[in-house]
Formats: sequence, structure tokens, C-alpha cells
Amino acid sequence: ATTTLLGPSEIRALAERAGVRPTKTLGQNFVLDAGTVRKIVRQADVRAGESVVEVGPGLGSLTLGLLEADADVTAVEIDPVLARLLPGTVAAHVPGLVVDDADRERVVLRDGDGRVRLTVVLADALDVRALPDPQPTALVANLPYNVSVPVLLTFLERFASLERGLVMVQAEVADRLAAPPGSRTYGVPSAKVAWYAAARRTATVGRAVFWPAPNVDSALVRLDRREPPSTTAAREDVFAVVDAAFSQRRKMLRSALAQLAGSSTAAQEAVLAAGLDPQTRGEQVDVDGFAAIAERLVAARP
Ligand code: SAM
Repeated sequence: ATTTLLGPSEIRALAERAGVRPTKTLGQNFVLDAGTVRKIVRQADVRAGESVVEVGPGLGSLTLGLLEADADVTAVEIDPVLARLLPGTVAAHVPGLVVDDADRERVVLRDGDGRVRLTVVLADALDVRALPDPQPTALVANLPYNVSVPVLLTFLERFASLERGLVMVQAEVADRLAAPPGSRTYGVPSAKVAWYAAARRTATVGRAVFWPAPNVDSALVRLDRREPPSTTAAREDVFAVVDAAFSQRRKMLRSALAQLAGSSTAAQEAVLAAGLDPQTRGEQVDVDGFAAIAERLVAARP
């Protein structure tokens, strides 16, 4: 017997039986297409036996794909109805998995050898501060659209064990995440994600593979952890510079950073000392540039 993935009729039947009515506020669009699921798993380079974290397993489409690739999965789901449904769906599709341990917030499924293959955690992903061992090396998720960027940044910040990510997000967000400095879509998410990882848009996914179909196309983004910029400034200080630099997109750095620096003269000095032109706009500066500015601003603090 082998693992089977969910298709359109099964997704609908599952939802109907459990009384699941997908909500927009939680970004509930479920993947109906096994080909898309396998593509996500493939592009994530999931290894057998690897510990993977998934945010928002929903009805389990991607969870089953990850288990099929022999990954061990921790799945964090905010919706109690979906979190409660998932263990049964997985046990019915992955031969040999049985529910071993369950309480209100956590359900564990093991295989015949006692290996933990799936832990379902009922929680808001933004509130999760610790994950069960072994610590995950990959984040693989079809992210809820309204919180995709905060979830991504939170996970990269909190879980240092994550070395890779493959996430599905709105196409427009994917463009922003992967945008290089100087491009039209470069902005706060691009610069902040670049602190942690190199981001690449790897594929477009049409709306027809979802139920219900969203109003926009989606895209896959591959993330590979990189060393943060080498700087003495704290990450928070660098992010404050990024936020200020883009708060008024059309402004030159000198004026955009004036408030944060205390004066436009102080801002000008920090930008110059960082080796940048004070007339440059935020959209031209990479994360190393923002880090250099932050370092000078911190050093000049009284
Ligand atoms: N992974 C499933 C799939 O591909 O079919 C569902 C993906 S759906 C786009 C997003 C999922 O994230 C939903 O199951 C939703 O309930 C869940 N979700 C929304 N906000 C969340 C949050 N803050 N923390 C954890 N899960 C969340």
C-alpha cells in the first residue's frame, strides 16, 4: 500500500462531511491538484526523514505530499475544525500511521516503528515560539494570504534550524519577496526577507487548482537561508531603517530617515558614512546597505 493524495472530489467530500466552510479571513483555499502538491514538494528538495514544518495544513493536501516524500511533519493550523480533521485524513491515506497521543492542542501520529511522522499543532502560527524536536530544516507551506509575509519573517527569525523554504503565496507577493533592489516591486518585504534568505520565484500557479478558487494567481517562492549582513547593528535597528526608508517611497534617504536619525543632517551623515549617496531612494538600497546605515545611526546615538 502507498500514500494517496487528495483530489477534487475527495476534498469536497471531506469538507462536506466535516461541515467545513472555507473562510476568506483565514485564507482558506485548498489545493485540489496532486500535480501541484508534488511540484511544491519537489521544489522544496524535501529529503527522506527530514523534519519539515507546514503552516496551515488545511484539509491535508500538502501534508500528504510531504509524508509521501517520507518527511516528518509538524503542521500548525489555527482552525480547530481543520486541526481536528487532519489526523483522521492522514491515517486514512498513509498506510501504517496511527494516532498515538492526543490532547487539545497537539496530536501525534506514529508509524509501525514508533517514528513520529506527523504532529498537528492547533495554534496561530504567529504565536508559536517552539516546535517539537527534531527541529525542522524546511518550511513548506501554502501560506494563508493575509499573513503570508509576517508568518515567513516570524519563522525565519524564530527557527534558526530552517535552512530552506518553499512557500506558495499570492503572485504579487512572490514578486515582492524575490525583487532585487532597483526593481519596481522591491520594498519592505524584499529587504527584510533578504536579511535571512535568498528568495527566488520558481513557478506561477493558476487559480483553478484551488477550492474555492481565489481571485488572484499564486506563485511558488524558494528560500535559501544565508548569513545575515555582517554588522554590529541589531536586526531590529536595521528593520527600523528599512521601514523608515520605504515609509515615503518617493523620498530620498536623507529625508526619509530624518525622523529616525533625529535630523536630516544626522541622516545625511549616516548615509554618507555607509558609503551611499544621500540622494538615493530606499528602493535602490540592498539589505547590506540598510545594515550599514543602521550601524552608523546606532553609533551616532547620544
Ligand atoms: N495547506 C492547505 C492546502 O494547500 O490545501 C491549505 C492552505 S490554505 C491557503 C491556508 C491554511 O492556513 C488554512 O488551512 C487556514 O485555516 C490556515 N491558517 C490561516 N491563518 C493561520 C495562522 N495564523 N496560523 C496557522 N494557520 C493558519
